[in-house]
Amino acid sequence: MSYPLDGYVRVRGAREHNLKDVDVDVPRNAIVAFTGVSGSGKSSLAFGTIYAEAQRRYFESVAPYARRLLQQVGAPHVDEITGLPPAVALQQRRGAPSSRSTVGTITTLSNLVRILYSRAGSYPPGAEHLAAEAFSPNTTAGACPECHGLGVTHDVAEDLLVPDPALSIRDGAIAAWPGAWQGHNLRRIVKNLGIDVDRPWRELAAKDRQWLLFTDEQPSVLIRPQDKDGGGGRDYHGTFRSARSHVHHVLASSASAAMRAKMLAFVRSTPCPVCDGTGLRVEALAVTFAGVSIAALGALPFTELVELLRSSATGDEDDVAVRISADLVARIDLLLDLGLGYLSLGRTSTTLSPGEAQRLRIATQLRSGLFGVVYVLDEPSAGLHPADAEPLLGVLDQLKAAGNSLFVVEHDLDVVRRADWVVDIGPAAGGGGGQVLWSGPVAGLEGVRESPTSDHLFGRAARFEHELRTPSAWLHLGGVTRHNLRDLSVDLPLGVLTAVTGVSGSGKSTLVSQVLAEVVRAELGQAPEPPADEDEDEDSGQPVEIGRVVGAEAFDRVVVVDQRPIGRTPRSNLATYTGLFDAVRKLFAATPEARQRGYGVGRFSFNVAGGRCETCDGEGFVSVELLFLPGTYGPCPTCHGARYNAETLEVTYRDLSVADVLALSVDEAAALLDGAAAGITRSLEALRDVGLGYLRLGQPATELSGGEAQRIKLATELQRARRGHALYLLDEPTAGLHPADIDLLLRQLHGLVDAGSTVVLVEHDLPTIATADWLVDLGPGGGDAGGRVVATGTPYDVAAAGVGATAPYLARRLG
Ligand code: ADP
Ligand code: ADP
Ligand code: ZN
Ligand code: ZN
Repeated sequence: MSYPLDGYVRVRGAREHNLKDVDVDVPRNAIVAFTGVSGSGKSSLAFGTIYAEAQRRYFESVAPYARRLLQQVGAPHVDEITGLPPAVALQQRRGAPSSRSTVGTITTLSNLVRILYSRAGSYPPGAEHLAAEAFSPNTTAGACPECHGLGVTHDVAEDLLVPDPALSIRDGAIAAWPGAWQGHNLRRIVKNLGIDVDRPWRELAAKDRQWLLFTDEQPSVLIRPQDKDGGGGRDYHGTFRSARSHVHHVLASSASAAMRAKMLAFVRSTPCPVCDGTGLRVEALAVTFAGVSIAALGALPFTELVELLRSSATGDEDDVAVRISADLVARIDLLLDLGLGYLSLGRTSTTLSPGEAQRLRIATQLRSGLFGVVYVLDEPSAGLHPADAEPLLGVLDQLKAAGNSLFVVEHDLDVVRRADWVVDIGPAAGGGGGQVLWSGPVAGLEGVRESPTSDHLFGRAARFEHELRTPSAWLHLGGVTRHNLRDLSVDLPLGVLTAVTGVSGSGKSTLVSQVLAEVVRAELGQAPEPPADEDEDEDSGQPVEIGRVVGAEAFDRVVVVDQRPIGRTPRSNLATYTGLFDAVRKLFAATPEARQRGYGVGRFSFNVAGGRCETCDGEGFVSVELLFLPGTYGPCPTCHGARYNAETLEVTYRDLSVADVLALSVDEAAALLDGAAAGITRSLEALRDVGLGYLRLGQPATELSGGEAQRIKLATELQRARRGHALYLLDEPTAGLHPADIDLLLRQLHGLVDAGSTVVLVEHDLPTIATADWLVDLGPGGGDAGGRVVATGTPYDVAAAGVGATAPYLARRLG
């Protein structure tokens, strides 16, 4: 491969999204930071233009016939890019991870481990040697025949089938049974079999209860007219099905998704008894290495795994075990360097934070031996304690030394300072941004006065400050046990802002997003939030154990403002989520034109038939079938993205059609819909207050970053302006935010406290931590080496005490 020798990627005429015909030269073989406030256009340049163009060229070269399809999907809006090497994107937000992928598969370490067991494992006497595939639950050779490699079996559970044992069968004790005629039929059969249908369920004989719920027998019973409650009719033969066989029958045969979903409510997943939850065949589980099975090895944290392998990694280099062990040790050492030693090979990817997943992929790339590649990264420091960021930067340096370019969208000023080059986009978001304010060595940015990045990087920006507050009361938790928290006691002040800090894996999210949320919700009798997505099996089977809770009665409610998407399909968007769109539809339905035509609010919905475009069912685009690019979309040929049919679009409000309104940014809407309705004004103001003025009202949930989703949730809360004492829990709200946006956010969060609420944040950003009234520093390390409170107090106390990973950084910040 050869590139022009000038050593630059030269971009000319970039116009993707808000980019204003941008020309920029970016050096190769360098670490380049792309900076700017949220929505300024960093991602549009780094991912939407540079990476997208590299992808497009790659697909053209491997499959010329794809050209036509790619044209449909759209090439980036750019006149020309020269000097562009192949690119690899290591993005944080990626499609839904499959529950079958694990730390081992992401890092490809599992392949090596399987070869190790296949070639160098100890087999039981007389057992045949197994191929490497036989050690994978994802292959037919390896999968446990009982659970097909999933490690879990689904079966009905008595407490779910009969939620209220005080009811009789007639009153519907067996909730899983069908209603209507089938329900009557079953009851008649049961009565006929001599079981009392009017006694409370819990008073029936145990063997009858077992039989009714679980039997596989399907006796056929003659039902006579006198058996029927109302009498009359003819004789017939009714067939009995137990609750379990009814559930299985519906799950296996019903065409109705709603029926199947209803039945799933009676089913619980349990570890497969045959393979003990490992998903592997017993033959594979019988093979050991260094005394442990491959399943046991996969459960060890890397810190322990590396010790076990180290003892096998010395000796004759021609020995398979020695060679593979040594290779594994070298690769795992890198993961330890990146602060990921608390993870294990078997940990499923759905339980990883985006930052953990990205670091695993970065580490994997380092071993891939690629050179001459552009890696495009999305805020690699997100989710990292300053102590963990150092080694990550070391790995980026190594990738560069191997001959690669690192283009990094980044907000952390310490990371930006270490870059070779900075491309600063701005000055503002959306239409107010999209220009390159500076492209060059970092020091040169100092003179660029219109740049918010420059203000923060060179200390000209005023920091958000406030007086330390005194707690109004305390919440005491004792005997907390979950993940690595063991019998933890912690005291949290109320009526103030608390930051929970600590290195990666120390237990911050477990404490805040899980334990605190669940405990306080339970105390208030508030139902747990449904998971955003039905395949999410977060921590099922890992209930919080908690000894003592004192003080939770002070709260009226608990609000978890997390980074989970506001929806999984493009049908939910900013406007629908905040409730703003309901008010907009009312506006349209109230216009004289709509009234004359008889259009109600439903007419202006893109989710129901009537007003929407029927070609795309109101989605605005249709999926383009590409053999090798799953889930690619093109604009709808009928409505060209408008989502509505032509008649609906004829109705206008202040000269805007409903599609025009969805296309407005929040800022534009605030100007054009000013005074239209109080609800609209409040929603728009709340969104602008958290720095989201640049988002379009119709921006689909699937296009929003985790940080944007989190701020939308916060704005939705703010617009309600409810009274009472709420507990707000946020997990790293500053991730993905420019220091200028962090300032906006801090004003809102501190405003909530001033209005009488309590705010608890998991946080890494030092400027943010420094504004907290109280800190709880967990650690000292990750995983088993963490889970304890190592320092707690005001930021000044913690910095002065000098104990814990956060203290030295904080001391520098406050000093
Ligand atoms: P940054 O990475 O700096 O936060 P982006 O590049 O994501 O900013 O966004 C720049 C502008 O482009 C914003 O106004 C944003 O709303 C808009 N934008 C982003 N993605 C899309 C998209 N898929 N379609 C249309 N506009 C978009
Ligand atoms: P932090 O938020 O400080 O990075 P976490 O609370 O995410 O730490 O993790 C604390 C410990 O709990 C780590 O050892 C982590 O591996 C473990 N852990 C977190 N989530 C899960 C999970 N879903 N299943 C098993 N272990 C988990
Ligand atoms: Zn199994
Ligand atoms: Zn359409």
